[in-house]
Amino acid sequence: MNKPPQVVVIGSLNMDIVVEAERPPQMGETVHGNQVHFIPGGKGANQAVASARLGAKTAMIGAVGSDAFGTELLHALGQEGIDVEAVKTVANSHTGIASIVLSQGDNQIIVVAGANGQVTAADIDQFEEKMAQADVVLLQLEIPLDTVIYAASKAKELGKTVVLNPAPARELPDELLQKVDVLIPNESELYLLAKVDAEVELEAAMEAMLKKGVATVVTTLGSKGAAYLTATGERGLIASHRVQVVDTTGAGDSFNAGFSYALASGAAVGEAIAFATKVAALAVTKLGAQAGMPTLAQVEEFIA
Ligand code: ATP
Repeated sequence: MNKPPQVVVIGSLNMDIVVEAERPPQMGETVHGNQVHFIPGGKGANQAVASARLGAKTAMIGAVGSDAFGTELLHALGQEGIDVEAVKTVANSHTGIASIVLSQGDNQIIVVAGANGQVTAADIDQFEEKMAQADVVLLQLEIPLDTVIYAASKAKELGKTVVLNPAPARELPDELLQKVDVLIPNESELYLLAKVDAEVELEAAMEAMLKKGVATVVTTLGSKGAAYLTATGERGLIASHRVQVVDTTGAGDSFNAGFSYALASGAAVGEAIAFATKVAALAVTKLGAQAGMPTLAQVEEFIA
């Protein structure tokens, strides 16, 4: 039997604290809420869970605080079969949180990075062997940018394929983009990175990213699907599947993990996007980011 694909995710772990209320409070005001939910999140952890559910041997490099949330998040990842040996517990920090007020279908969110802000180049060095074993190194932008740059450089030194999901949106130095094999932005992230107006054609913005040194760019377009362009001139648009949408939280995370799993299994870019499109379609039919990530069997059974 072939060995399972191996993915290492270097990124964030958060506890999402979701409070439901009739309306959000104004500054200085107290309102009574109806419900509170504690939901494991963070783009890094979401992508690690999705990767593991698909059957990739998945390791995570990251950090939690020395609190109950940290313990819970580590336990949850462990239950998914994810190797969390390289997720450190930071003594003088708290676990990253997203405080979300949900009212009347709208939300207000405050993210506090906590321990996610303390993932360093030294951690990457310490757990270099996790990268050395992986086929794909999957990165996002919820840990310090310097660490992301260092991790991408190290991964390239080790001859690994680097996939970067440039979320949350921010400008990035060419020094990082030159190390990226596959960049997977959504549309708004792409336009910010390409420094062009949204009116400019998608294709032109993607070409701008290739000029900055990215080898392949895959832009997710929500319900419209995903477009791709490679340095070798391959291009295409793969439509999304029509599904009964329940919750699009984590759509991007499931897509990135699905793509990385397929790439690590030896798929070509177009095939990997087709696979990721199925993974994301299944994920949006379920409530919750991590809870909604499908297994490989579910993806294989999925008939578009
Ligand atoms: P999020 O921030 O909500 O996680 P995102 O902005 O990073 O998402 P999107 O481009 O919205 O990412 O979605 C990623 C992929 O998920 C799309 O390329 C598509 O394959 C799938 N997807 C998203 N929305 C839908 C939908 N309504 N129906 C089917 N597939 C969808």
